[in-house]
Amino acid sequence: MVKKKRTRKDTLDVLILASAAIVLSTFLVIKLLAISGFNLRNFVKRSQNVESDQKPYSLNIPIITYHYIEIVTDKNDFLRKNMAITPTELKREINELKSQGYEFVFIKEIPKLLHMETPPTGKFVAITFDDGYRDFYTDAFPVIKETGVKATVFVITGFVNYQNYMTDEQIKEVSQSGLVEVGAHTMSHIDLRSITSAHADSEIVGSKDYLESKLGIKVESFSYPFGGFNNEITQMVKNASHTSAVSDISGTTQSLSNLYSLSRIRVGYFFKFE
Ligand SMILES: [Zn+2]
Repeated sequence: MVKKKRTRKDTLDVLILASAAIVLSTFLVIKLLAISGFNLRNFVKRSQNVESDQKPYSLNIPIITYHYIEIVTDKNDFLRKNMAITPTELKREINELKSQGYEFVFIKEIPKLLHMETPPTGKFVAITFDDGYRDFYTDAFPVIKETGVKATVFVITGFVNYQNYMTDEQIKEVSQSGLVEVGAHTMSHIDLRSITSAHADSEIVGSKDYLESKLGIKVESFSYPFGGFNNEITQMVKNASHTSAVSDISGTTQSLSNLYSLSRIRVGYFFKFE
């Protein structure tokens, strides 16, 4: 009986200690994030962009990742609700960046900015939309036209013309507007790390070919499905004549050493921006 009581007390002590540890570590993490300035407001403040004036230099260019741009009507579709923003919010965010003096660039311009003899002056930002959903055409593209900014859309070519994805004609139209760079995002959106090298290569080359041969769009930029890459995959993307690739690595520092794994920030970080 006594022994049992003691055990229960011990368990309680352990629980209290564990809770204290969790509270303390959460506090420390929050504190650390605050110290390291991990939010877009600080990204923006730090964006005097040049971090070193010698080549190779790095630039502070926030690349923002968007997914769905729509008003989600299904209240139970938490994933979609979490990843979606409305066209109104998109417009507000774009205007906020414009008022902060940001110049919107395509992803394909970033290698050029990094290859210049002397670091460019100015504040640059890129907005990217993955997957090539139809709502890019119906909801985001009107905002892009209205605000006159540049954006990059990464298309999964195997899904083109399917329900909820853009059609050939819509992709051509956004590309011809001069405001939208169209990049490749593989043919089937498979994690390239999970398949054979030959298969991965055909996914990379095939998506670029579709856009270039069938739609007549010159493709320079690539986005890894699920942000998944390794040295071999990076080499394949390079060999297929892409000039850069975006990853899901969080951050805003871009340099020649991460040309094929450019950092991005998710729309969630952007929400902290007022
Ligand atoms: Zn994707």
